[in-house]
Amino acid sequence: MESIVYFATARATRWDYQYSLAARLERMLERLDLGSRIEKSEYVAIKTHFGSDGAHRVVRPLFLRKVADAVKAVGGKPFVCDTVRINGWDYLEVANQNGINPQSVGCPVILADGLFGCDSIEVPAGPILGSVRVASAIYDAPAMIVVSHCKGHIEAGYGGAIKNLAMGGVAGRHRSGDWRQARGHLHAAGPESTLERYPELCIMCLQCLHVCPTGAISEVDGTLATDDEKCWRCGRCERVCPEGAIRLQKRGQDEFHAGLAEAAQAVLSTFRPGKVVFLNFALEVQPECDCMPMADTPLVQDQGIFGGDDIVAVEQATLDAINRALPLPQSAAADRGIRPGQRVLAETLGIDGQLHVDAAAALGMGRREYRLVEV
Ligand code: SF4
Ligand code: SF4
Repeated sequence: MESIVYFATARATRWDYQYSLAARLERMLERLDLGSRIEKSEYVAIKTHFGSDGAHRVVRPLFLRKVADAVKAVGGKPFVCDTVRINGWDYLEVANQNGINPQSVGCPVILADGLFGCDSIEVPAGPILGSVRVASAIYDAPAMIVVSHCKGHIEAGYGGAIKNLAMGGVAGRHRSGDWRQARGHLHAAGPESTLERYPELCIMCLQCLHVCPTGAISEVDGTLATDDEKCWRCGRCERVCPEGAIRLQKRGQDEFHAGLAEAAQAVLSTFRPGKVVFLNFALEVQPECDCMPMADTPLVQDQGIFGGDDIVAVEQATLDAINRALPLPQSAAADRGIRPGQRVLAETLGIDGQLHVDAAAALGMGRREYRLVEV
């Protein structure tokens, strides 16, 4: 048995609006039959990623507006949302900078976990995580459209719908300040995880300090210090350090990926069956997550949009397309000597995002087998 995945190609070969990606998205939304999923006046969360100061390759407002318009056309009340990554006030400004605001998308733009990132409800998850704290506006919304910019990710190897829900559907903070009770819970390896510094290797480039999302790293008298209580073991500092002066000892990759699938499943468990659809934008597929303070050039050419109501099938179709595409010159894939025929994302990042798609399939969240239907 295979799931249907609708596909809108990024290629536009005629001078006609019907061949534009915007028109193809409209047709995809029609095929997804939102009218059968959304009741009149029902609130619909449109979950996306707002980006960060310096990371501009997010899903464009044009497409978010098409989604919001389609929700309104069937009587729903859409709101575009994300969860707090930096201070909420500043994060709404990041959204503004990236062109995502009520004027551009045609509906409210909010922080699903509130201005302070603490509004959340604890929801049971699987054996690795135990529970997660789902952002309250997502928890309370009866329906959701998950709009994901698909790219690489520092820990997950691939950031699509599962990552968007797992890390992005969970509150950024907890009132107690304990990162273990918020998103940091997903990153962390548990109490045994440690961040080790090798000061003798450090050249004080300060990239780790600038990339740290929690302010855990500080410079004191010409040396760096890490606040262990603030550090949620996300691994960004390790990723950017050019000298190997920071190393994170944490749980194995398999467990991390399984935890990611568990968290996404927990977020989805707050919706009735059939109330969530997934739109994966395989455009500007850069190697880093949109939460990093920069965006590199794309690894592969724009592929298009993949959509459906089976998260596993949509993710598998997207990942297959990216990994099978030709590596682009002047990209991180070219820097690493990736050749045509190699799995571009997996080989460039050295982490296989397939692991969490497989973990989601193993949890019964969907099927890996899919049939593409072009719109
Ligand atoms: S792992 Fe590094 S970047 Fe991440 S929170 Fe800890 S100190 Fe900051
Ligand atoms: S990124 Fe590495 S080399 Fe640069 S300041 Fe941090 S620890 Fe030192």
